Amino acid sequence: MNVLVINCGSSSLKFQLINSDTEAVLAKGLCERIGIDGRLTYQPAGGEKEVFEKAMPTHTEAIQFVIDALTNEKTGVVKSLDEIGAVGHRVVHGGEKFAQSVVITEEVKKAVTECNDLAPLHNPANLIGVEACEKLMPNTPMVAVFDTAFHQTMPEKAYMYGLPYSYYEKYKVRRYGFHGTSHSFVSKRAAEIAGVPYDQTKTIVCHLGNGASVSAVLNGKSVDTSMGLTPLEGLVMGTRSGDIDPAILEFIAKKENLDIEGLMKVLNKESGVYGLSNGVSSDFRDLTAAAAEGQKPAQIALEVFAYRVAKYVGAYTAAMNGVDNIVFTAGIGENVVQVREEVCRYLGFLGIEIDNEKNAIRGEEVVISTPDSKVKVMIVPTNEELAIARETVALL
Ligand code: ADP
Repeated sequence: MNVLVINCGSSSLKFQLINSDTEAVLAKGLCERIGIDGRLTYQPAGGEKEVFEKAMPTHTEAIQFVIDALTNEKTGVVKSLDEIGAVGHRVVHGGEKFAQSVVITEEVKKAVTECNDLAPLHNPANLIGVEACEKLMPNTPMVAVFDTAFHQTMPEKAYMYGLPYSYYEKYKVRRYGFHGTSHSFVSKRAAEIAGVPYDQTKTIVCHLGNGASVSAVLNGKSVDTSMGLTPLEGLVMGTRSGDIDPAILEFIAKKENLDIEGLMKVLNKESGVYGLSNGVSSDFRDLTAAAAEGQKPAQIALEVFAYRVAKYVGAYTAAMNGVDNIVFTAGIGENVVQVREEVCRYLGFLGIEIDNEKNAIRGEEVVISTPDSKVKVMIVPTNEELAIARETVALL
Protein backbone atom coordinates (compact mmCIF):
# COMPACT_ATOMS: atom_id res chain seq x y z
CA MET A 1 0.00 0.00 0.00
CA ASN A 2 1.13 3.58 -0.65
CA VAL A 3 0.77 5.84 2.37
CA LEU A 4 0.79 9.61 2.14
CA VAL A 5 2.39 10.99 5.29
CA ILE A 6 1.41 14.56 6.13
CA ASN A 7 2.97 16.88 8.70
CA CYS A 8 0.92 20.04 8.59
CA GLY A 9 1.93 23.34 10.19
CA SER A 10 0.07 26.64 10.22
CA SER A 11 1.64 27.86 6.97
CA SER A 12 3.55 24.80 5.79
CA LEU A 13 2.96 21.17 4.98
CA LYS A 14 5.59 18.44 4.63
CA PHE A 15 4.69 15.24 2.84
CA GLN A 16 6.13 11.90 1.81
CA LEU A 17 4.56 9.15 -0.23
CA ILE A 18 5.84 5.82 1.11
CA ASN A 19 5.33 2.34 -0.27
CA SER A 20 4.66 0.42 2.92
CA ASP A 21 5.69 -2.95 1.43
CA THR A 22 9.17 -1.88 0.35
CA GLU A 23 9.32 1.10 2.74
CA ALA A 24 10.70 3.13 -0.18
CA VAL A 25 9.98 6.85 -0.36
CA LEU A 26 8.32 7.37 -3.77
CA ALA A 27 8.27 11.16 -3.52
CA LYS A 28 8.55 13.87 -0.92
CA GLY A 29 8.25 17.59 -0.61
CA LEU A 30 7.06 20.65 1.15
CA CYS A 31 4.43 23.35 0.69
CA GLU A 32 5.41 26.67 2.22
CA ARG A 33 3.89 30.10 2.65
CA ILE A 34 0.33 28.74 2.63
CA GLY A 35 -2.08 31.65 3.07
CA ILE A 36 0.65 34.11 2.05
CA ASP A 37 1.51 33.24 -1.55
CA GLY A 38 2.58 29.62 -1.89
CA ARG A 39 5.53 27.47 -2.92
CA LEU A 40 5.69 23.73 -3.58
CA THR A 41 9.00 21.88 -3.46
CA TYR A 42 8.61 18.40 -4.94
CA GLN A 43 11.08 15.57 -5.40
CA PRO A 44 10.26 12.16 -6.88
CA ALA A 45 12.60 9.30 -5.91
CA GLY A 46 15.69 9.41 -8.11
CA GLY A 47 14.52 12.65 -9.72
CA GLU A 48 15.43 16.29 -9.53
CA LYS A 49 13.98 18.58 -6.90
CA GLU A 50 11.57 21.07 -8.48
CA VAL A 51 10.15 24.26 -7.03
CA PHE A 52 6.79 25.67 -8.16
CA GLU A 53 5.41 29.04 -7.12
CA LYS A 54 1.67 28.47 -6.78
CA ALA A 55 -1.09 30.40 -5.08
CA MET A 56 -2.11 28.50 -1.94
CA PRO A 57 -4.77 30.55 -0.15
CA THR A 58 -5.55 27.55 2.09
CA HIS A 59 -4.23 24.06 2.89
CA THR A 60 -6.82 22.57 0.54
CA GLU A 61 -5.07 24.12 -2.48
CA ALA A 62 -1.72 23.01 -1.08
CA ILE A 63 -2.87 19.39 -0.81
CA GLN A 64 -4.46 19.59 -4.26
CA PHE A 65 -1.06 20.63 -5.68
CA VAL A 66 0.64 17.79 -3.84
CA ILE A 67 -1.84 15.32 -5.33
CA ASP A 68 -1.38 16.88 -8.79
CA ALA A 69 2.40 16.54 -8.52
CA LEU A 70 2.16 12.93 -7.30
CA THR A 71 -0.19 11.92 -10.14
CA ASN A 72 1.17 14.20 -12.87
CA GLU A 73 2.25 12.41 -16.12
CA LYS A 74 5.76 13.81 -16.12
CA THR A 75 6.88 13.94 -12.50
CA GLY A 76 4.22 11.77 -10.89
CA VAL A 77 4.92 8.49 -9.12
CA VAL A 78 1.38 7.06 -9.14
CA LYS A 79 -1.28 7.01 -11.88
CA SER A 80 -4.20 8.19 -9.81
CA LEU A 81 -5.40 8.88 -6.30
CA ASP A 82 -6.66 5.30 -6.13
CA GLU A 83 -3.05 4.24 -5.67
CA ILE A 84 -2.85 6.11 -2.37
CA GLY A 85 -4.27 3.65 0.14
CA ALA A 86 -4.14 5.75 3.30
CA VAL A 87 -3.00 9.02 4.80
CA GLY A 88 -1.01 9.19 8.04
CA HIS A 89 -1.16 12.56 9.81
CA ARG A 90 1.27 13.73 12.42
CA VAL A 91 -0.73 15.28 15.25
CA VAL A 92 1.27 17.03 17.94
CA HIS A 93 -0.88 16.84 21.07
CA GLY A 94 -3.15 13.99 22.03
CA GLY A 95 -3.37 15.04 25.69
CA GLU A 96 -4.40 12.17 27.95
CA LYS A 97 -6.98 11.03 25.41
CA PHE A 98 -4.62 9.21 23.05
CA ALA A 99 -2.05 6.67 24.17
CA GLN A 100 -1.90 5.23 20.65
CA SER A 101 -2.42 6.15 17.03
CA VAL A 102 -6.05 6.06 15.87
CA VAL A 103 -8.09 5.91 12.69
CA ILE A 104 -9.53 9.40 12.24
CA THR A 105 -13.29 9.73 12.76
CA GLU A 106 -15.50 12.72 13.61
CA GLU A 107 -15.18 11.71 17.28
CA VAL A 108 -11.39 11.65 17.06
CA LYS A 109 -11.33 15.10 15.46
CA LYS A 110 -13.48 16.39 18.30
CA ALA A 111 -11.16 14.88 20.89
CA VAL A 112 -8.12 16.41 19.13
CA THR A 113 -9.87 19.78 19.09
CA GLU A 114 -10.32 19.47 22.85
CA CYS A 115 -6.51 19.28 23.12
CA ASN A 116 -6.08 22.53 21.14
CA ASP A 117 -5.52 24.52 24.32
CA LEU A 118 -2.45 22.40 25.05
CA ALA A 119 -0.86 23.03 21.64
CA PRO A 120 -2.48 26.15 20.21
CA LEU A 121 0.08 26.56 17.43
CA HIS A 122 0.14 22.95 16.28
CA ASN A 123 -3.12 21.05 16.81
CA PRO A 124 -5.40 23.42 14.87
CA ALA A 125 -2.95 23.30 11.94
CA ASN A 126 -2.80 19.50 12.09
CA LEU A 127 -6.59 19.36 11.95
CA ILE A 128 -6.72 21.72 9.00
CA GLY A 129 -4.45 19.24 7.18
CA VAL A 130 -6.80 16.39 8.07
CA GLU A 131 -9.85 18.25 6.83
CA ALA A 132 -8.20 19.35 3.61
CA CYS A 133 -7.29 15.71 2.86
CA GLU A 134 -10.82 14.58 3.71
CA LYS A 135 -12.21 17.03 1.20
CA LEU A 136 -9.97 15.85 -1.61
CA MET A 137 -9.80 12.14 -0.72
CA PRO A 138 -13.15 11.41 0.92
CA ASN A 139 -12.81 7.64 0.58
CA THR A 140 -9.23 7.26 1.77
CA PRO A 141 -8.75 6.13 5.39
CA MET A 142 -6.72 8.48 7.59
CA VAL A 143 -4.77 7.83 10.74
CA ALA A 144 -3.59 10.28 13.41
CA VAL A 145 -0.17 9.58 14.93
CA PHE A 146 0.47 11.65 18.05
CA ASP A 147 3.78 13.10 19.26
CA THR A 148 2.62 12.63 22.83
CA ALA A 149 1.17 9.09 22.64
CA PHE A 150 4.35 7.09 23.31
CA HIS A 151 4.91 8.95 26.59
CA GLN A 152 1.46 8.21 27.98
CA THR A 153 3.03 5.25 29.82
CA MET A 154 4.92 7.66 32.11
CA PRO A 155 4.01 7.07 35.77
CA GLU A 156 2.42 9.86 37.82
CA LYS A 157 5.64 10.54 39.69
CA ALA A 158 7.25 11.45 36.34
CA TYR A 159 4.42 13.47 34.85
CA MET A 160 3.13 15.48 37.82
CA TYR A 161 4.53 18.96 38.48
CA GLY A 162 5.02 20.28 41.99
CA LEU A 163 2.01 22.56 41.55
CA PRO A 164 -1.45 22.65 43.15
CA TYR A 165 -3.19 19.38 42.26
CA SER A 166 -6.28 21.31 41.21
CA TYR A 167 -4.41 22.58 38.10
CA TYR A 168 -4.08 18.99 36.99
CA GLU A 169 -7.73 18.27 37.76
CA LYS A 170 -9.08 21.42 36.16
CA TYR A 171 -6.70 22.03 33.26
CA LYS A 172 -4.71 18.81 32.85
CA VAL A 173 -1.48 20.65 33.64
CA ARG A 174 1.08 17.82 33.65
CA ARG A 175 4.06 16.64 31.66
CA TYR A 176 3.21 15.02 28.31
CA GLY A 177 6.47 14.82 26.36
CA PHE A 178 6.92 15.09 22.59
CA HIS A 179 8.92 13.51 19.74
CA GLY A 180 7.19 10.27 20.81
CA THR A 181 7.16 8.82 17.30
CA SER A 182 10.92 9.26 17.10
CA HIS A 183 11.67 7.99 20.62
CA SER A 184 9.58 4.89 19.93
CA PHE A 185 11.08 4.21 16.48
CA VAL A 186 14.67 4.74 17.59
CA SER A 187 14.46 2.81 20.87
CA LYS A 188 12.92 -0.19 19.07
CA ARG A 189 15.62 -0.14 16.45
CA ALA A 190 18.31 0.15 19.16
CA ALA A 191 17.07 -3.07 20.77
CA GLU A 192 17.25 -4.81 17.38
CA ILE A 193 20.80 -3.56 16.85
CA ALA A 194 21.80 -4.64 20.36
CA GLY A 195 20.16 -8.02 19.74
CA VAL A 196 18.04 -7.88 22.89
CA PRO A 197 14.25 -8.13 23.33
CA TYR A 198 12.69 -4.64 23.31
CA ASP A 199 10.61 -5.46 26.38
CA GLN A 200 13.67 -6.44 28.41
CA THR A 201 16.05 -3.54 27.94
CA LYS A 202 16.77 -0.07 29.33
CA THR A 203 17.31 2.58 26.68
CA ILE A 204 17.93 6.30 26.82
CA VAL A 205 17.21 8.14 23.58
CA CYS A 206 18.77 11.56 22.97
CA HIS A 207 16.70 13.12 20.18
CA LEU A 208 18.85 16.17 19.49
CA GLY A 209 17.43 18.32 16.72
CA ASN A 210 16.43 21.94 16.63
CA GLY A 211 13.87 20.85 19.19
CA ALA A 212 15.54 18.33 21.49
CA SER A 213 14.44 15.83 24.12
CA VAL A 214 15.73 12.83 26.04
CA SER A 215 13.59 9.85 26.99
CA ALA A 216 13.93 6.89 29.32
CA VAL A 217 12.48 3.75 27.75
CA LEU A 218 12.19 0.88 30.21
CA ASN A 219 11.24 -2.50 28.75
CA GLY A 220 9.69 -0.88 25.69
CA LYS A 221 7.75 1.80 27.56
CA SER A 222 8.53 5.48 28.01
CA VAL A 223 8.88 6.14 31.74
CA ASP A 224 10.21 9.69 31.55
CA THR A 225 11.06 12.36 29.02
CA SER A 226 12.50 15.84 29.21
CA MET A 227 9.77 17.87 27.49
CA GLY A 228 6.71 18.70 29.56
CA LEU A 229 3.32 20.32 29.14
CA THR A 230 4.90 21.98 26.10
CA PRO A 231 8.10 21.38 24.12
CA LEU A 232 9.81 24.21 26.02
CA GLU A 233 10.93 22.14 29.00
CA GLY A 234 14.13 20.16 29.34
CA LEU A 235 17.25 20.47 27.22
CA VAL A 236 18.77 23.70 25.98
CA MET A 237 17.61 23.67 22.34
CA GLY A 238 18.22 25.61 19.13
CA THR A 239 16.29 28.68 20.25
CA ARG A 240 14.33 27.35 23.28
CA SER A 241 15.63 27.80 26.80
CA GLY A 242 14.68 24.42 28.25
CA ASP A 243 14.62 24.27 32.09
CA ILE A 244 15.11 27.57 33.88
CA ASP A 245 14.31 28.93 37.32
CA PRO A 246 10.65 29.98 36.92
CA ALA A 247 11.32 33.11 38.99
CA ILE A 248 13.50 34.42 36.14
CA LEU A 249 10.26 35.27 34.34
CA GLU A 250 9.21 37.89 36.88
CA PHE A 251 12.74 39.22 37.19
CA ILE A 252 13.24 39.70 33.44
CA ALA A 253 9.68 40.95 32.90
CA LYS A 254 10.39 43.82 35.28
CA LYS A 255 13.89 44.59 33.98
CA GLU A 256 12.97 44.46 30.29
CA ASN A 257 9.38 45.62 30.63
CA LEU A 258 7.99 42.51 28.94
CA ASP A 259 4.50 41.00 29.12
CA ILE A 260 3.79 37.25 28.97
CA GLU A 261 3.80 37.17 25.14
CA GLY A 262 7.14 38.99 25.11
CA LEU A 263 8.61 36.58 27.66
CA MET A 264 7.38 33.53 25.77
CA LYS A 265 8.94 34.86 22.59
CA VAL A 266 12.27 35.21 24.38
CA LEU A 267 12.06 31.67 25.80
CA ASN A 268 10.94 30.06 22.54
CA LYS A 269 12.75 32.02 19.87
CA GLU A 270 15.65 33.96 21.34
CA SER A 271 17.15 31.56 23.86
CA GLY A 272 18.82 28.15 23.64
CA VAL A 273 22.20 27.89 21.92
CA TYR A 274 21.17 30.81 19.70
CA GLY A 275 20.73 33.11 22.68
CA LEU A 276 23.70 31.70 24.59
CA SER A 277 26.02 32.19 21.61
CA ASN A 278 25.00 35.83 21.53
CA GLY A 279 23.01 35.33 18.36
CA VAL A 280 25.71 33.53 16.34
CA SER A 281 23.28 30.80 15.24
CA SER A 282 20.96 28.03 16.35
CA ASP A 283 22.66 25.72 13.83
CA PHE A 284 25.46 23.52 15.13
CA ARG A 285 27.41 23.84 11.90
CA ASP A 286 27.77 27.58 12.52
CA LEU A 287 28.31 27.13 16.25
CA THR A 288 31.11 24.58 15.95
CA ALA A 289 32.80 26.80 13.31
CA ALA A 290 32.52 29.88 15.54
CA ALA A 291 33.75 27.92 18.56
CA ALA A 292 36.74 26.63 16.57
CA GLU A 293 37.57 30.25 15.71
CA GLY A 294 37.73 30.92 19.44
CA GLN A 295 34.43 32.77 19.89
CA LYS A 296 33.74 32.37 23.59
CA PRO A 297 29.89 32.60 23.59
CA ALA A 298 29.67 29.87 20.92
CA GLN A 299 32.02 27.69 22.99
CA ILE A 300 29.88 28.23 26.07
CA ALA A 301 26.70 27.40 24.11
CA LEU A 302 28.16 24.05 23.01
CA GLU A 303 29.34 23.26 26.54
CA VAL A 304 25.99 24.09 28.12
CA PHE A 305 24.15 22.01 25.50
CA ALA A 306 26.23 18.85 26.04
CA TYR A 307 26.30 19.25 29.84
CA ARG A 308 22.50 19.45 29.99
CA VAL A 309 22.13 16.34 27.81
CA ALA A 310 24.59 14.43 30.01
CA LYS A 311 22.73 15.46 33.18
CA TYR A 312 19.44 14.16 31.77
CA VAL A 313 21.06 10.88 30.77
CA GLY A 314 22.43 10.58 34.31
CA ALA A 315 19.00 11.31 35.79
CA TYR A 316 17.30 8.74 33.57
CA THR A 317 19.89 6.13 34.44
CA ALA A 318 18.78 6.64 38.05
CA ALA A 319 15.10 6.58 37.01
CA MET A 320 15.58 3.13 35.42
CA ASN A 321 18.18 1.90 37.92
CA GLY A 322 20.61 1.38 35.06
CA VAL A 323 20.91 1.70 31.30
CA ASP A 324 21.81 -0.79 28.54
CA ASN A 325 21.66 1.40 25.43
CA ILE A 326 22.16 5.11 24.85
CA VAL A 327 21.08 6.33 21.43
CA PHE A 328 21.80 9.58 19.60
CA THR A 329 19.41 10.69 16.89
CA ALA A 330 18.07 13.69 14.89
CA GLY A 331 20.11 16.45 13.19
CA ILE A 332 22.60 17.09 16.00
CA GLY A 333 22.59 13.59 17.51
CA GLU A 334 23.32 12.04 14.11
CA ASN A 335 25.83 14.58 12.83
CA VAL A 336 27.72 16.40 15.55
CA VAL A 337 30.68 14.27 16.61
CA GLN A 338 31.80 16.72 19.28
CA VAL A 339 28.43 16.67 21.10
CA ARG A 340 28.38 12.87 21.29
CA GLU A 341 32.00 12.80 22.44
CA GLU A 342 31.42 15.34 25.17
CA VAL A 343 28.19 13.79 26.45
CA CYS A 344 29.87 10.39 26.64
CA ARG A 345 32.87 11.85 28.45
CA TYR A 346 30.59 12.91 31.33
CA LEU A 347 29.16 9.38 31.36
CA GLY A 348 32.49 7.63 31.74
CA PHE A 349 31.44 6.64 35.28
CA LEU A 350 28.90 4.26 33.72
CA GLY A 351 31.75 2.32 32.15
CA ILE A 352 31.13 3.84 28.73
CA GLU A 353 34.02 3.70 26.28
CA ILE A 354 33.74 5.29 22.86
CA ASP A 355 35.53 4.17 19.71
CA ASN A 356 36.68 7.49 18.26
CA GLU A 357 36.77 6.20 14.69
CA LYS A 358 33.20 4.97 14.92
CA ASN A 359 32.11 8.20 16.57
CA ALA A 360 33.49 10.12 13.59
CA ILE A 361 30.73 8.58 11.43
CA ARG A 362 27.75 10.84 10.73
CA GLY A 363 24.16 10.12 9.91
CA GLU A 364 24.46 6.34 9.77
CA GLU A 365 23.32 3.51 11.96
CA VAL A 366 26.42 2.56 13.95
CA VAL A 367 27.46 1.40 17.42
CA ILE A 368 30.02 3.97 18.58
CA SER A 369 31.00 2.30 21.86
CA THR A 370 33.82 -0.25 22.07
CA PRO A 371 32.98 -3.96 22.53
CA ASP A 372 34.16 -3.66 26.17
CA SER A 373 31.94 -0.68 26.96
CA LYS A 374 29.46 -1.46 29.78
CA VAL A 375 26.71 0.42 27.92
CA LYS A 376 26.07 0.25 24.16
CA VAL A 377 26.12 3.72 22.65
CA MET A 378 24.82 4.13 19.12
CA ILE A 379 23.66 6.45 16.39
CA VAL A 380 20.27 5.51 14.98
CA PRO A 381 18.95 7.95 12.38
CA THR A 382 15.34 8.75 13.13
CA ASN A 383 12.66 8.46 10.47
CA GLU A 384 9.38 9.86 11.74
CA GLU A 385 7.68 9.63 8.35
CA LEU A 386 8.42 5.92 8.03
CA ALA A 387 7.24 5.40 11.60
CA ILE A 388 3.97 7.19 10.77
CA ALA A 389 3.53 5.09 7.61
CA ARG A 390 4.10 1.89 9.60
CA GLU A 391 1.62 2.92 12.29
CA THR A 392 -0.94 3.82 9.63
CA VAL A 393 -0.69 0.45 7.92
CA ALA A 394 -0.69 -1.43 11.23
CA LEU A 395 -3.95 0.25 12.24
CA LEU A 396 -5.71 -0.33 8.95
P1 ADP B 1 14.08 19.67 13.57
O1 ADP B 1 13.40 18.49 12.93
O2 ADP B 1 13.75 19.86 15.01
O3 ADP B 1 14.02 20.94 12.78
P2 ADP B 1 16.56 18.33 12.88
O4 ADP B 1 16.53 17.00 13.53
O5 ADP B 1 16.39 18.41 11.42
O6 ADP B 1 15.62 19.34 13.64
O7 ADP B 1 17.98 19.00 13.27
C1 ADP B 1 18.33 20.26 12.79
C2 ADP B 1 19.61 20.70 13.44
O8 ADP B 1 20.60 19.67 13.33
C3 ADP B 1 20.25 21.91 12.76
O9 ADP B 1 19.77 23.10 13.32
C4 ADP B 1 21.71 21.71 13.04
O10 ADP B 1 22.00 22.30 14.30
C5 ADP B 1 21.88 20.23 13.16
N1 ADP B 1 22.49 19.61 11.95
C6 ADP B 1 21.85 19.07 10.90
N2 ADP B 1 22.73 18.58 10.00
C7 ADP B 1 23.96 18.84 10.49
C8 ADP B 1 25.31 18.58 10.05
N3 ADP B 1 25.55 17.97 8.90
N4 ADP B 1 26.31 18.99 10.84
C9 ADP B 1 26.07 19.61 12.01
N5 ADP B 1 24.83 19.88 12.48
C10 ADP B 1 23.80 19.50 11.75
